[in-house]
Amino acid sequence: DELISQIAAGEVVERPASVVRELLDNALDAGARQITVRLSAGGVRLISIEDDGLGIPREELSVALRRHATSKIASLSELETVGTMGFRGEALAAINAIAELTLVSRATGADAAHALDGRTGELRQVARNTGTTVEVRELFYATPARRKFLKTDATELAHCIEATRRHALARPDVGFAVWHEGKLVEQWRAAADRDQRLADALSNEFVAQSVAVSHVGGAVRVVGRAGIPDAARSRGDQQFFYVNGRFVRDKVLSHAVRSAYEDVLHGQRQPVYALYLEIDPARVDVNVHPTKIEVRFRDGREVHQAVRHAIEDALAAPRA
Ligand code: ADP
Ligand code: MG
Repeated sequence: DELISQIAAGEVVERPASVVRELLDNALDAGARQITVRLSAGGVRLISIEDDGLGIPREELSVALRRHATSKIASLSELETVGTMGFRGEALAAINAIAELTLVSRATGADAAHALDGRTGELRQVARNTGTTVEVRELFYATPARRKFLKTDATELAHCIEATRRHALARPDVGFAVWHEGKLVEQWRAAADRDQRLADALSNEFVAQSVAVSHVGGAVRVVGRAGIPDAARSRGDQQFFYVNGRFVRDKVLSHAVRSAYEDVLHGQRQPVYALYLEIDPARVDVNVHPTKIEVRFRDGREVHQAVRHAIEDALAAPRA
């Protein structure tokens, strides 16, 4: 069983940034307004994510660490319309199998906070405001081979920051801070709107050099910004797709963007964009891969067309 847990964990957790992604999902699902990420040694030594969300009642702390324990869906039919980032109940169990996990939480209305040691199951009362902190130490301590595959601390840190940035671009209303070795390395305060967050978390140039996208095609709504970088500054790392608030990578989507840009970029440069698709949850399957970074559309053509037209319209319109 220990072995099975380890193997299952490998599917969800590839590197520190995978842990960051899962814990941020959980914090957002809990309604957090402010999330603080603290890292040490690129996240290998320590990942601590603190939120001010709903918290977890004392009696549910140990349940949260069990495999396939989720409080987010109660039936198979709800899987069709899942509105939360999580729903598989795998992340905490997986992380607990490959690292030293401590779950600290105080539920709304509870008069105390408790800390659960994921290894020993020991529960003790601690001081804390409403919300949850998940501390993950010594990732892959039991699988040195896996740990060896990690890159330098600086690279792992960069991936952790990128994972946080992806969440931040999805949720401008939430404040994010990232600390590494006790130093604040990124901070994005709760923003008034999406453009403000794009400016903070990407750059002012990203907003200044892009056009607003807003398009409805069939059952798909596409909003966001798309830009044309000048050749010298062209970079492939400013391409963000969200489907119903979830960061995804998808060939249908990137192909649609590329076709829309074809005449403009002549294959010389990389487009930059942050595009947010809203689509009936029943028309997209997010349960394709444990990391949920891949999705499957029921009607890929419809989505492709909507995205393509959204970009074409935006690029043709006067700058906004
Ligand atoms: P999932 O997110 O798919 O439900 P997880 O393993 O990520 O599964 O989390 C298990 C459960 O622990 C969640 O369903 C939720 O009830 C609880 N939980 C985890 N993190 C938090 C958090 N930051 N705030 C409140 N509850 C949380
Ligand atoms: Mg989760």
